[in-house]
Amino acid sequence: MVEYNDLIFEISRSGRVGYSLPKSDVKSVDLQDKFPKHLIRDEAAELPEVSELQLVRHYTALSNKNHGIDNGFYPLGSCTMKYNPKINEDVARLTGLSRIHPYQPSETVQGALELLYNLQEELAVITGMDAVTLQPSAGAQGEWTGLMMVKAYHEQKGEVRKKVLVPDSAHGTNPASASVAGFKTVTIPSNENGLVNLDELKKHVDSNTAALMLTNPNTLGLFEQEIAEIAAVVHEAGGLLYYDGANANAILGKTTPGTMGFDIVHLNLHKTFTGPHGGGGPGAGPVGVKEFLLPYLPVPRVEKDGDKFVLNSNYPLSIGRVKGYHGNFGILVRAYTYIRTLGPIGLREVSEGAVLHANYLRKRLEPYFDAPYSQICKHEFVLSGSRQKKLGVRTLDMAKRLLDFGYHPPTIYFPLNVEECLMIEPTETESKETMDAFADVMIQIAKEVEENPGIVLEAPHTTVIGRLDEVQAARQPILRYKKEESAVKVKEPVNV
Ligand SMILES: *Cc1c(COP(=O)(O)O)cnc(C)c1O
Repeated sequence: MVEYNDLIFEISRSGRVGYSLPKSDVKSVDLQDKFPKHLIRDEAAELPEVSELQLVRHYTALSNKNHGIDNGFYPLGSCTMKYNPKINEDVARLTGLSRIHPYQPSETVQGALELLYNLQEELAVITGMDAVTLQPSAGAQGEWTGLMMVKAYHEQKGEVRKKVLVPDSAHGTNPASASVAGFKTVTIPSNENGLVNLDELKKHVDSNTAALMLTNPNTLGLFEQEIAEIAAVVHEAGGLLYYDGANANAILGKTTPGTMGFDIVHLNLHKTFTGPHGGGGPGAGPVGVKEFLLPYLPVPRVEKDGDKFVLNSNYPLSIGRVKGYHGNFGILVRAYTYIRTLGPIGLREVSEGAVLHANYLRKRLEPYFDAPYSQICKHEFVLSGSRQKKLGVRTLDMAKRLLDFGYHPPTIYFPLNVEECLMIEPTETESKETMDAFADVMIQIAKEVEENPGIVLEAPHTTVIGRLDEVQAARQPILRYKKEESAVKVKEPVNV
């Protein structure tokens, strides 16, 4: 049988076509004097010549190889892979929202601006902030946007503050964003309970401290109980508090970063607010601020003027525009639909479900793995594979073994302060049956490590390609078809 997945070039037959275009009514142009010589092809590109049906089968086969939330459990901690409700897709496709142009005059896109305005207002309530920008297109860009406002704020006060404090459990984007914004990051070690070590924090907070970046609950899934005191320590020294709200799944309708004392927050709409985010697709990382930081927000701002919605760029202290147009509009529409579908009570139920699910799964798995922070968690929890490592099997091997059962593995080796870390986030949209089936497989793998480690060490057995050389794949990716190099060694599938 012809396999349509990687043979698109091989099934090519000269002269076969999969398209028909109308006759061009545009005059052809001589490129010779318009482009540098070396950019002009001498001969036509060598593309596969296939029929429409062959092409459809090729892409369908490729898409079936991809693991997504629509075809399986995806407990990737710190990534909040929750269901993407299909009503969001319906709304995002309404022509009044999908067929408009960002350069259209404001009067002609009042509905779209109203949606953006309402979303700003709702996210402000959800985060306990006073104003929100929807421009940033990812969590990391939100962080950077927030830190540029931190910088502008201190500069406006005539202060130069160079340090940004980040706990050792922080997401890697936190120190990276601080560096890109021109700060020096200082790592604050966690205490034995996995929380911010207040004494260490006090040692590092001084008049050079621009901000503390914090996730609460942190990436171990634990709530920082001393948050009020942490906030006071930083504020007393004149620093600001930045809340990494990428995963707000545990706090919706329960508390807000504003209540906890934070000045700036970003949210990941592609995580907590159900934007599809596999494959690095478009995201949205809106940033909310307290009133005193409003003048620094990116422009243009979407505002309400009487009963009209307008774009206002008249903010002289603004850090400027951080993204073309008005952010990733389609993702904003999906998040707005999600928020309006659930309402405030529904959002609170989301968080209650997320926390319940995480604790249920934690309890089922804790007897079989080391649990460095065994206590009630929020929306996610960490286990350690150090017990299995003593038997010669690493967390990476167990993650690969999960693929044989059709599960996307949890996040592994993050956060960095847990040895052989497995970080699991089941999300509230999964059924008890799905979580039980996953737990059963995890327990089976733990038993295999003791009784038959070879099967784990050699996993995966059922995927088209076994273990990749991940370093080589990142350093020397082959992004273009070349007959010789694309001869990927395909393992014979094994039935288990
Ligand atoms: C995902 C995540 C980020 C980064 O968000 P991106 O949209 O991937 O840039 C930051 N912090 C935490 C805690 C995250 O989980």
